[in-house]
Amino acid sequence: MRYISTRGGAQPRSFTDIVLEGLAPDGGLFLPESYPQLGERELASMRDMNYRELAFEILSRFIDDIPAVDLRRMIDRTYTAQVFGSDDITPIRVLEPGLFILGLSNGPTLAFKDLAMQLLGQLFEYVLAARGEELNILGATSGDTGSSAEYAMRGKRGVRVFMLSPQGRMSPFQTAQMFSLADPNIFNIAVRGVFDDCQDIVKAVSADAAFKAAYRIGTVNSINWARVAAQIVYYFKGYFAATRGSGSSNREPVSFAVPSGNFGNILAGHIARTMGLPIRRLILATNENDVLDEFFRTGCYRVRKGAEVHATSSPSMDISKSSNFERYVFDLAERDSAQLRSLWARLDREGSFDVAGMPLYARVAATGFVSGSSTHADRLATMRRVWNDYGVMIDTHTADGIKVALEHREAGVPLVCLETALPVKFADTIREAIGRDPERPSGFEDLESLPQRFEVMEADAQAVKSYITAHCRG
Ligand SMILES: *Cc1c(COP(=O)(O)O)cnc(C)c1O
Repeated sequence: MRYISTRGGAQPRSFTDIVLEGLAPDGGLFLPESYPQLGERELASMRDMNYRELAFEILSRFIDDIPAVDLRRMIDRTYTAQVFGSDDITPIRVLEPGLFILGLSNGPTLAFKDLAMQLLGQLFEYVLAARGEELNILGATSGDTGSSAEYAMRGKRGVRVFMLSPQGRMSPFQTAQMFSLADPNIFNIAVRGVFDDCQDIVKAVSADAAFKAAYRIGTVNSINWARVAAQIVYYFKGYFAATRGSGSSNREPVSFAVPSGNFGNILAGHIARTMGLPIRRLILATNENDVLDEFFRTGCYRVRKGAEVHATSSPSMDISKSSNFERYVFDLAERDSAQLRSLWARLDREGSFDVAGMPLYARVAATGFVSGSSTHADRLATMRRVWNDYGVMIDTHTADGIKVALEHREAGVPLVCLETALPVKFADTIREAIGRDPERPSGFEDLESLPQRFEVMEADAQAVKSYITAHCRG
């Protein structure tokens, strides 16, 4: 399997050549040259596999330059009951016949990102060791991504993590999760500023090509291809779980609802569907930051300016643009990189493009996508409804997904709603919705009282560079 760039300007490469990379050298995103296709017989043989077997079956089709025994060993170490709370890894809950919640948030940081990030930690350590290289991951986080990356990379040889976060702006739970890590390869930097200041520092440091090369600066953001690939697995797992015992011939269509921000999670669903998994609808849900909903409703993709981005109670979906969206549009354009380049050139120039009336937009229907958006009031009402009707507590992001899911539900089609975080991470809004404290999973009872380790810094790229330099020596 070779990987190409959406912009058409990079030599095809193997998986291990792209796994440590962010953007392709031409500014595009890496994608496999073609998607592996699975027939009915293959789906039947996968139906009863456990999560690890299924992950190997799928990922080995995308990763063919790591020996199978090594890939299997990394998968077996990652997807364990110890890391994800049960051997099922992604347990499914039936709310009522035909309506399910797929639990993706039982990893160490209680959000779905762990499912991919934990495997990425194994892959990074493996590839770096094979090359005798080291990597310094520099990131900015407003909450979920940073902690997920740190828990995946803690203790990994050859990797250091420098994570910037806006001082005092994460929830107490999220802060404690990150700052209580004591591993010597994890460095938390609390920046006197807001999230955008943190992100600007990361950009400034990465733009210094000499520094970037000398200190092997890398990222783990959601455009990393391995993260997308690892997320494909749970669509298969969820499909088989939702059609269990229905005498299914592995042809029964199932719809999935996905709370979306950077389009990484639902892109994995799009790829699973393209590979032959019988997904009927991919229901994309946004919060008040409805860049993606607007595209699917109107054909206009319009990046929001900083001041237009709403700070919402589902903060992990507060985005101004969607970094993985380019991969989907590449498929809509039938992989015509010239068309892709011209759309993104317009986006850079004008901040938007409009494809309404073009063949590209007409192809959306064939990809199964529908969309909707949710507000704070919708979120509260959905959390309350799911609690009252089913006795199930959901977090704010999952609530956005379920709100939009129910608007697109079809009789006779099983509907799987992806749970992207646990309620304990967003306790204030849970109390606002249902008047009680969220359940706290075991092991997290005393989190906020653990000792915390972090460095406070001004919003200054030079200071961050000096800090990295000082901590790369010893
Ligand atoms: C990251 C995140 C999302 C958005 O996922 P994308 O892959 O960026 O679309 C939704 N919910 C939660 C809780 C998240 O952490």
